[in-house]
Amino acid sequence: MELIARIKKAVKQYDDTHNFTCDICGREVFANERICAPCEKLLPFNNALVCPYCGRRVKEEGACIECKASPLGVKKARSVFVHEGEAARLVVRFKRGEKYLYRTIIDTMVPLFDAEFSFVQGIVAVPMTEKAEKKRGYNQARLLAEELSARTGVLFLDALRKEKETPSQKFLSRRDREKNLEGCFRADRALVKGKKLLIIDDTLTTGATISAVAAALKRAKAGELYALTVTSVENKTPFGIPEE
Ligand SMILES: [Zn+2]
Ligand SMILES: [Zn+2]
Repeated sequence: MELIARIKKAVKQYDDTHNFTCDICGREVFANERICAPCEKLLPFNNALVCPYCGRRVKEEGACIECKASPLGVKKARSVFVHEGEAARLVVRFKRGEKYLYRTIIDTMVPLFDAEFSFVQGIVAVPMTEKAEKKRGYNQARLLAEELSARTGVLFLDALRKEKETPSQKFLSRRDREKNLEGCFRADRALVKGKKLLIIDDTLTTGATISAVAAALKRAKAGELYALTVTSVENKTPFGIPEE
């Protein structure tokens, strides 16, 4: 089955916790749906032209400007959606307290995982500082990574720590964001050494966070690295893009 068709089918599988309303518009839905048909049509699947490295939508075939200037540090990153419209709203709501949305979001990620990353030996999540996680009550990336692990049988490795808070990343290029993030992350060598790993995050903006996490994993002697996010920002310009 074609990938997008599989993603659409996945969001139609429900469990007992389903509340029979659409996770996007709140309208009543059939028992086997989480997203209603009209909303599904509005979702911006990232299935057109993408940069082969960071997976962001591009206008012309080939690597995006930022991957040309500074490699991402993972072999390949992919996202289910472009960070716009209903997909962006879904991710923002998920990050701002609507924790239950992880189920719907992970439904859309499993088919992409199966198609692109089923060979990895472990799943890791972009960490938050302890303080930031306490404030929000959960780490959205970790929630997705753990659920992806449960669905696919690939081990979740609690191997990453974020040790200091970073200043706002808004309006910064990948390079400047990378400078901000230098030395923020630490990986547990005993858990990651020699393993092919998939890094999970909610949104890939410039890729600086993924890049900094990849650098920490490499310092801990991890093997090949890959990344999967729910959304990624279209590569138009390094400035004026939303915060990661
Ligand atoms: Zn709807
Ligand atoms: Zn790129």
